[in-house]
Amino acid sequence: MTSSLRLAVFGDPISHSLSPRIHGLFGRQLGVEVDYQAIRCGVNELPAKLAELVAGGGIGANLTLPLKQTGLRQCRQLDRAARLARAVNTLKLDEQGWLGFNTDGPGLVLDLERLGIALTDARILILGAGGATAGILAPMLAKKPACITILNRTAERAASLAERFSHLGAISGHGLNASPQAHDLLIQATSLGHSGAMPELAPDWLKPNARVYDLNYGRAHQPVADWAERHGWRVDGGLGMLVGQAALAFEIWTGQRPSFSAAMDSLGAELS
Ligand code: NAP
Repeated sequence: MTSSLRLAVFGDPISHSLSPRIHGLFGRQLGVEVDYQAIRCGVNELPAKLAELVAGGGIGANLTLPLKQTGLRQCRQLDRAARLARAVNTLKLDEQGWLGFNTDGPGLVLDLERLGIALTDARILILGAGGATAGILAPMLAKKPACITILNRTAERAASLAERFSHLGAISGHGLNASPQAHDLLIQATSLGHSGAMPELAPDWLKPNARVYDLNYGRAHQPVADWAERHGWRVDGGLGMLVGQAALAFEIWTGQRPSFSAAMDSLGAELS
């Protein structure tokens, strides 16, 4: 061990967070002693909790629900991904204050690359127009897909999100009653899996050889996994996105990128 790093993830709820385990794995991989705590924190408590972290020698933090938008106000500077997503999931302390980053979307793109899922020239269908979709659009559009179609229960949210990102590529947003042409990739980005369900989805919205990626993982991924397998599509859950965003955050804090696939192997073994 050569150095010690004090870090935390803030959110509410937070007890389920895998981030302490993931960053512990990264630390062991790279010989960095990591003290990474999961701390329950509501929106109004964030400034005080961050100040406590700094007083204890902390140099970085992750923010999860419901703090990703609130966190913007704590930052003196934002990276492009955080500005476009209007949300921040990673903070790094410098001499003058917090720098804010959003590694969620880049983490997803890393995972899609790991899984051999091509984005360039692909027709991509995204279900859901919440915070997670806002975070993934810019990094996905940077890969130059043929188009991105967002479908959402609340059509206006899908349309306004598409409008917000339309300067970056071909993107449109509609309600769930639209009948889009077949796509190469489905990204499931609704929170419906947490209640054991998935949105109504017509099989002809996807090509026979399409891939399906669900941002949910664990139990919340099961409805989409069952549905995709029933239709013969290869499906992956979002654990790799979580590990990918964490690897990019770790790199922001230390300058070293942990091995993403080695961490996935260890985590998979730990969780199974
Ligand atoms: P969010 O901002 O709360 O958005 C929720 C989305 O789900 C909205 O589009 C909402 O539609 C839709 N939805 C909710 N209930 C629905 C229902 N009954 N029928 C149809 N649509 C419904 O949540 P988020 O932050 O975008 O997160 C979305 C999911 O991604 C969550 O399950 C979260 O756990 C997961 N996630 C995973 C990672 C990862 O690292 N793997 C990262 C971020 C998020 P309306 O707009 O109509 O309400």
